[in-house]
Amino acid sequence: MAASKSVVLAFVEECDPEEELRSCIFPSKVGGCPAWLRLKNLPNRSDILCKTCDKPLIFLLQIYCNIDEVESAFHRTFFLFICANGKCYKRFDNQSFVVFRNQLPRLNEFYSYDAPDYKSKKSPSDPSADKYQPLCSICGCVASLKCQESQEFNYCSENHRDYDKERNFQNGGAKNSKKTKSKREKAKKQFVLPEYELIFETEVLPSTQTEKSDAEKMKEYRQFMQSTKAPNEMQEMPLDDLDSVMKRNDKAFNKFRKRISLEPEQVLRYERGGTPLWVSAEHVPSPKDIPNCICGAKRTFEFQVMPQLLNYLSLDSVQDSVDWGTLAVYTCSKSCDEGVKGYVKEFVWKQDFSDNYQQ
Ligand SMILES: [Zn+2]
Ligand SMILES: [Zn+2]
Ligand SMILES: [Zn+2]
Repeated sequence: MAASKSVVLAFVEECDPEEELRSCIFPSKVGGCPAWLRLKNLPNRSDILCKTCDKPLIFLLQIYCNIDEVESAFHRTFFLFICANGKCYKRFDNQSFVVFRNQLPRLNEFYSYDAPDYKSKKSPSDPSADKYQPLCSICGCVASLKCQESQEFNYCSENHRDYDKERNFQNGGAKNSKKTKSKREKAKKQFVLPEYELIFETEVLPSTQTEKSDAEKMKEYRQFMQSTKAPNEMQEMPLDDLDSVMKRNDKAFNKFRKRISLEPEQVLRYERGGTPLWVSAEHVPSPKDIPNCICGAKRTFEFQVMPQLLNYLSLDSVQDSVDWGTLAVYTCSKSCDEGVKGYVKEFVWKQDFSDNYQQ
């Protein structure tokens, strides 16, 4: 996907289970293990921990978004990690998220100069990151620990090693058993989200916005809230209350709802240098809230993750669940070479649905 002036929307698509979305086809995807871009100098696990619970974050998604005008960004991918522990999600708090930028020039040591065949998902080169360093057998992040007994498996953290150990997956002989393998795949789901490919489409805005009646708006609005993880109380609120909430609250939400209703299934919006679509007027960052890149350049908005994505993650939907209104990602406006040397952190801003809804 190349950067463009209009908004590009992303939608999830089921993956073929036989087909791996490998690094060499530069995938954009949700879940599974990261398909790393630069295959060396991966981020250390200590940089991918939740600042609230200190546990390893899990991989949420990656998007491939090269920039034609920047030579060192011929390939360019973002990797976003989140905490799976709902208790860590406090309102407007971004401590449970980490996003990395990584990029490569066309001529690089890992991939062929020629583009892969995206249709057949084949490439002239097919290198993998585990050639360069051991990867965690659970989550695919760089590993620094070995299984103490068999020395066969590698792990990114004690957390993942001990999990495997408790389930006796480390036992050398068991590795070959089919049963153990499928059990292991099931168990991994705690640490690896279901995998989907991300497909992009440019947003088309209707040329003339026909005004809808209030009743229609309310219906749409209610449908939208039901399709997200909005608090239950809100979904069950009588229409009159909802109406007053809407009036009291939010032009912003109204705008959000209107825009979303054009493509209700969108899970991500991409507009490098554009403006995020906020879910409410509360907790919208001012420029001083967005820290500069380590190179000194300003960060600007690049993409946002929508609440609809939560429906695909099979995370607990009970109390204290993983939740957001939107996650807006701000990135180095120069897309600097720090992202070529390695995986450089960018900035996530979490906005929640308005407080008025949480009675
Ligand atoms: Zn956490
Ligand atoms: Zn791991
Ligand atoms: Zn920079």
